[in-house]
Amino acid sequence: MSSLEADPEVPGPARSSHEVELLEGASVALGGPRGMDVVRTLPSRHRRMVGAWCFLDAYGPHDLTGSAGMRVGPHPHIGLQTVSWLVSGEILHRDSLGHRQEIRPGQLNLMTAGRGISHSEETPPVRSSVLQGVQLWVALPDNDRDTAPSFDHHPDLPTLTDGGLTATVVMGELAGATSPARCYSPLVGAEITLTAGTEAQLPLRPDFEYAILTLDGAVTAADTPLKPGPLLYLGSGRSTLSLSAGPQTRLMLLGGEPFTEKLVMWWNFIGRDHDDIVNARQAWESGEDRRFGTVHGYDGPPIPAPPMPVTRLVPRGRVR
Ligand code: MN
Repeated sequence: MSSLEADPEVPGPARSSHEVELLEGASVALGGPRGMDVVRTLPSRHRRMVGAWCFLDAYGPHDLTGSAGMRVGPHPHIGLQTVSWLVSGEILHRDSLGHRQEIRPGQLNLMTAGRGISHSEETPPVRSSVLQGVQLWVALPDNDRDTAPSFDHHPDLPTLTDGGLTATVVMGELAGATSPARCYSPLVGAEITLTAGTEAQLPLRPDFEYAILTLDGAVTAADTPLKPGPLLYLGSGRSTLSLSAGPQTRLMLLGGEPFTEKLVMWWNFIGRDHDDIVNARQAWESGEDRRFGTVHGYDGPPIPAPPMPVTRLVPRGRVR
């Protein structure tokens, strides 16, 4: 079965949407023009979310020789969780709740912004020579978006092994293995490694939509060849995903129940309307500490918010 061929007419709810989309993403300099290059594939203009996953930056492998590495000064968030995952290297997180936590490959740093938090992320002074990883955001549902901010470090995550496939469940549940990380909507985020030449069938939930991002190597997924860079959107209605690795391969699987609420995503904020964003921006720019607190210990200034656009921000759905 080719997932690229036109789906024949199938009556009733058994019809599934097996068309795939390749989201090429764009190169962005994190932390300004002298910053580190990342490839951003979510939100894309057309496909804004996969489940509640609404932001995806992949970076590296970067050789840090002679470089400051990652330097992202204190900045605020509302209405989302940040998910930090490394393939190589280290990142030091500091936040306005007083957490100071380094992560390494195989560990999850999960920050729930809720009603408001600020944090910084930097390459620590003692570091490996190569940095590679992904930075993701998960949108919080309306009922939970004003929850109290929190931060969790998860050094031990469940893994699944099947032949040459190993999956680490970072968020949510995959094939009966559940991450201890707190989720607010049904979703999954997993890192999957495949030894060279591995053919595998990954069990999926038909009610979830999914996407995969190759980090290393090359894989054919749902009959589509994929290398590091673009995000392959797989749609929903699948109960399995066929994976066929070329060389040793590493990929991220993202999925979740389609997120039906309309959102305003602006800078580091997720709200439901223009005024949510104006209020959060004002709280950050005024420097009053009650909403976003203060990050201590970062050697640099906080990041100022960009000016508001002239027109009112409009809530958008998951697909345009
Ligand atoms: Mn951040």
